[in-house]
Amino acid sequence: MSCIIYGVINVKTKQPLKLPSSKLQKKPPFHIIKTPASALPSMAASAAAPATSLQFEPDCIFCQITSKSTSTTILYSDDKVIAFPDIRPSAFRHYLVIPVAHIPTVRDLQRKTEDYSLVCHMLEVGQTLLRRDAPQCQYRFGFHQPPMNSVNHLHLHCQAMPYTPSWKCMKYLSLGPLGFIEADKFLEKIKP
Ligand SMILES: [Zn+2]
Ligand SMILES: [Zn+2]
Repeated sequence: MSCIIYGVINVKTKQPLKLPSSKLQKKPPFHIIKTPASALPSMAASAAAPATSLQFEPDCIFCQITSKSTSTTILYSDDKVIAFPDIRPSAFRHYLVIPVAHIPTVRDLQRKTEDYSLVCHMLEVGQTLLRRDAPQCQYRFGFHQPPMNSVNHLHLHCQAMPYTPSWKCMKYLSLGPLGFIEADKFLEKIKP
């Protein structure tokens, strides 16, 4: 496994972006460069408890991303979560935040502190990235509920409007228990 992972660096100061920071909203010039893992900012999850499931699924494309064995551009990572751009973006900015642990879907999360904290942390990371990269936009954060989920590894869709093309909004309709569920609404469901 490579010790090099991708981070986002402020071009002017050469410093890694700290998450979260109010300064990030000023839209400095960004580009992606290689940076040693030790130089990346750490934003520890508020929960010290381990995630629901720590298993690694070798055939899961998202587990492969968490193990850094793909060429996916990593926008953010810590010991709990990792964020990267959606490979088929539906919106002006469209990122995914996933747990490092292989948790298949929202159905595998329960009304307990570690699950609630994990989702809060995923949301916080997504909000910080979008506020940095699309500061003037409206955002949507949420999950597909099975059987409408594409990949069986929990992933939070983080989108800065508008949808491009606009019909892509159809993939994110709230259809009751089967549709897309907003992160806020889901957090209410698992709040301890
Ligand atoms: Zn997985
Ligand atoms: Zn999805």
